[in-house]
Amino acid sequence: MASTIYERSRPGRRAFSLPPCDVPERRLEELLPETLRRRAPARLPEVSEVQLVRHFTELSTLDYGVDTGPYPLGSCTMKYNPKINERVAALEGLRDLHPYQPESLAQGALELMYTLERWLAEIAGLAATTLQPAAGAHGELTGLLLMRAYHEARGRAPRKIVIPDTAHGTNPASVVMAGYEVLSVRSDGRGGIDMDELAAALDGDVAGLMLTNPNTLGLFDEHIVAIAETVHAVGGLLYYDGANTNAVLGLSRPGDMGFDIVHFNTHKTFSTPHGGGGPGAGPIVVRDTLAAFLPVPVIVREADGRYRFDYDRPQSIGKVRTFYGNFAVLVRAYAYIRALGGEGLRTASEAAVLNANYVLAGIRDLFDVPYDRRCMHEFVVSAEPLKQYGVKALDVAKRLLDYGVHPPTTYFPLIVPEALMIEPTETESKDELDRVIAAIRAAVDDAARDPELLKTAPHTMPVGRLDEVGAARHPVLRQRCPEDGV
Ligand SMILES: *Cc1c(COP(=O)(O)O)cnc(C)c1O
Repeated sequence: MASTIYERSRPGRRAFSLPPCDVPERRLEELLPETLRRRAPARLPEVSEVQLVRHFTELSTLDYGVDTGPYPLGSCTMKYNPKINERVAALEGLRDLHPYQPESLAQGALELMYTLERWLAEIAGLAATTLQPAAGAHGELTGLLLMRAYHEARGRAPRKIVIPDTAHGTNPASVVMAGYEVLSVRSDGRGGIDMDELAAALDGDVAGLMLTNPNTLGLFDEHIVAIAETVHAVGGLLYYDGANTNAVLGLSRPGDMGFDIVHFNTHKTFSTPHGGGGPGAGPIVVRDTLAAFLPVPVIVREADGRYRFDYDRPQSIGKVRTFYGNFAVLVRAYAYIRALGGEGLRTASEAAVLNANYVLAGIRDLFDVPYDRRCMHEFVVSAEPLKQYGVKALDVAKRLLDYGVHPPTTYFPLIVPEALMIEPTETESKDELDRVIAAIRAAVDDAARDPELLKTAPHTMPVGRLDEVGAARHPVLRQRCPEDGV
């Protein structure tokens, strides 16, 4: 473990030098009354500038990130985020823009958002976009509120949303938050929705269906057109959880599959650094029949080419976020799509699918492959065969850290026991993919030779097994002077 900043502290050391205070005592009194002032100086670490820089530089190397090595975390697309996007988002004219800036002085920003909306609509194969939702789950909630508004405008009030058992956890949570009931349907032997179960579940009380396609097994639902027809036949709508669209960009469009509402996670698919809970964006795109219900304001382009916000939308569900969404994240998505273009996006998806199939081929003999099909951008294997050594999926995941590879997602989707969910992404080269395969093979080798090595892994990280429940329930978020106690 790295030394704490307090261990480096020595009385009198400073990382700054300021001229003496020239504010008269009387003036100080006015500015800050006696009762509000510190009685004793704060016990801050006392370090020189170079010590301070070394401290933070050291801290920055303790964690594992996508800038450190491969990060094959399924269902969360941890692709490399080109640094140019950071430069673009930090351009003064974009970074320093105030949300209350008059429209006439923010035409460039409005054009950027308007253009991004059009691009996302094209990628989705649908008509109209809102950039407001701040994350994927927020997009889901917004989409469900749109569904409700749509049905209400038709004098209907269906209560249920159908979700397959492979769904991401946010789907049922959003359904409940939107005031609907979850109707779960099972998957069939090929990992798609069981069509008989679906037919039995559908009636006039179904408001819609939420689906990820390819789903969380990394499999494309072969019945999607039939699914869309049967859901539409009972008056329901189809919601596409497009958090991870990395497999289908420029190859297939949710709108063409029959979906009516789509959300994108720009922070996953369109390259904003994420994973630490930082800001994201979950724009949604809808069919023209739902456009009237989108959140206000809507960006419109006048005949003279000027852009403005339109608040005059009587059927709108209202605002779902302050101002216009996480603008800086949208700028990154714009920069990413603009740099790659349509061809580039398609190539990215093709490479993402190829890379996933390459890694699967390299390790399939080691595990159970519950749905043995060609995968899309990710795949799921089961570590059940390792149970004979007393080793679990979690142990394999932790051991990978010792081989310089970030663990994959574990124990999800829930229908696969001892699941390892692997998404290599398109930004890894063949060398890196070979390294991931070699690391997984080495970890499984270790399991047969010396299971203890896995059960106590990782051995090369600054910290070993963490008390994850404890960390969530009793987080320690501050470093305090040891004399003050932790
Ligand atoms: C990540 C993810 C979400 C939720 O997105 P957030 O931005 O974390 O709210 C929803 N669905 C799927 C399939 C996801 O992978």
